[in-house]
Amino acid sequence: MPLHRFARHLTARYRLPAGEWKDVMKSIRSFNACHYIAAAVLVAGYFWASVPVGLESSAAGGEAAGSKPRAGQLKCGAAETVITRVKDRPEVYADLYARAMVLEQGPRRMAIVTADMGTFSYAYSDVLVDAIHKATGIEKQYILTCASQTHNAPGVDGRQMSATSKTWLAGEMARLVKRASENVRPATLRVSRAPAQIGYNRRLLRNGQVHMAPNPEGAVVPWVDVLSAYDEEGKRIGTMFSHAAHPVIVHGSVDATGPDFPGYAIEHLRKLLAPKGEADGIFMFTQACCGNINGYPLRGGIAACDAAGLSLAHSVTEALDKEHEISPGAVRSRSMTLSLPLQDPPSLKECQEVLAREPDNVRYQELLRMAQSGKRPVLPFPMHAIAIGDDVCILTFKGEMFAEYQLFAEKVSPFKHTFVLIHVNGIGPYVATEKAYALGNRGGYEAWGFMTSRPPYMPFHRDSEKMIHDGIVQLLGALKRGE
Ligand SMILES: [Zn+2]
Repeated sequence: MPLHRFARHLTARYRLPAGEWKDVMKSIRSFNACHYIAAAVLVAGYFWASVPVGLESSAAGGEAAGSKPRAGQLKCGAAETVITRVKDRPEVYADLYARAMVLEQGPRRMAIVTADMGTFSYAYSDVLVDAIHKATGIEKQYILTCASQTHNAPGVDGRQMSATSKTWLAGEMARLVKRASENVRPATLRVSRAPAQIGYNRRLLRNGQVHMAPNPEGAVVPWVDVLSAYDEEGKRIGTMFSHAAHPVIVHGSVDATGPDFPGYAIEHLRKLLAPKGEADGIFMFTQACCGNINGYPLRGGIAACDAAGLSLAHSVTEALDKEHEISPGAVRSRSMTLSLPLQDPPSLKECQEVLAREPDNVRYQELLRMAQSGKRPVLPFPMHAIAIGDDVCILTFKGEMFAEYQLFAEKVSPFKHTFVLIHVNGIGPYVATEKAYALGNRGGYEAWGFMTSRPPYMPFHRDSEKMIHDGIVQLLGALKRGE
């Protein structure tokens, strides 16, 4: 380390007044042999103190450290890259991005990776997590790959990435996270929330049947959650913001590839923050519990999407204005997999009757097998959560959770700030509420149509809601207690 940098480090470490490093340097230059031995001891002590400490003690260190980040405390790096070349259509209305934020706390690192993509399948998500793990050494349970679910990119409505694109994207995501990981620097984290709503509940009950249409009475998650990291100079490293709405505002109005409202929100955020000199750093969007919420207006086109993006950007700036710092305690994770029951298949008699008429009906072939087995079929339902210190938790699901689950997690979470993200590390089925399942085949797309038109061919049982609620309470409780 050059002499002047070492002197600066000493002044910072021992909190000498600014500029005093020059005096430190002068005294270093006038050292004799004894001084050099003393200095060597001091240097050794300095590096010893800089070695990342264990998780328990780093949490305690965070408490004591106050607002000033120190070596061995939380570090953060962020990066972004354009991934438009994975497009499956020739036209592009705006570039697709992948973005990464890496947090380092003592020996542990975690990565939040977002992508303007429809979805990632379980299998492909494993490929991504593997590639990121191999490139960075970050433990797999600390890697969150988050697809925005833009409906103008591969991964939705039968839109697919080519095999070449899949291979390229896995490599690019790994390089991206590596870059963010190599750029980590001492950081403070801040969180906040502001009111936000750019969509509506999309389940309208009319004549006893649920239709996909805006339902102003239905549940939404009317806020945006924001997590930001700033370096020692107070410059933004990255800001992750999370809101619950299907990115379907451009969807269908044009076929071209693009990120939908998250892309516009980030563009507007930069414009809104530029006059304050705060536009730098990486901005990234994560999807919250939007299973029953559509961005508004559905298929409204580019201009409408731009306006929705602006509205969300305004909410994020409002949140940024009231951010508060969190103590940088240990990063830890916990998982839980439930076995959720499906609804009972039709009777043996009904299955046989349908198959007599339509012998090639694949759904009824499967339902017959279920009915014959006499066992209630179950689906594995993984849940995962990462805590950052004592106050912040990121609860993640693969499935398309209804807004009600985020409202529930918010109510019961023992953490001060709980982010709830979906489409993380793979896409699972819609997860509706007990009330929605009780409507049976009148329950609409999410509670009936989607689940019955593909494996497993039956929706979740109405008891699922209670089981998931209990699971959330247990998972977050155990994470909070550090079990
Ligand atoms: Zn969806």
